[in-house]
Amino acid sequence: MLKPLQEWICDCCGNTITSPDEGYVIWQHDNNQRDFDFKIIHKFVCEPPSYPSSVPLNDFLGTKGSTYLLSFISLGKIKARGQYRNYCHVLDFDEFVDLYRRVQIPYYEEARRKFNNPQLLADMEDASEVHPYQEDVLKQIIEKY
Ligand SMILES: [Zn+2]
Repeated sequence: MLKPLQEWICDCCGNTITSPDEGYVIWQHDNNQRDFDFKIIHKFVCEPPSYPSSVPLNDFLGTKGSTYLLSFISLGKIKARGQYRNYCHVLDFDEFVDLYRRVQIPYYEEARRKFNNPQLLADMEDASEVHPYQEDVLKQIIEKY
């Protein structure tokens, strides 16, 4: 069992990242500098050479991390003016929100390994948009499936 928000599964080698200090978040950009293909990986050992952006996993954690993640999708009241209004450099929102949940919501990373379970998908068919990602529901997913 992974320690919530302290351990992750490396998207490159599939082994456990046992501390935030061991992790990096990497991603790519399209020609318009919009970000996609976010991955959490072991720093140095699992870093593919083709990814232009890599940032320490620690920068995505806690309140500081939440603030950083939000800056990807809005420059906010101070900076979002003129040409920068509605400026967003995320290309794939589903991928981005998956990253957000992996680094901000306890138990998401562990439960995420079960998200292709057919019984889980059937049981969640009528659930609301938010229900499956609540901390207590994620814990139930880990135990039940
Ligand atoms: Zn790795």
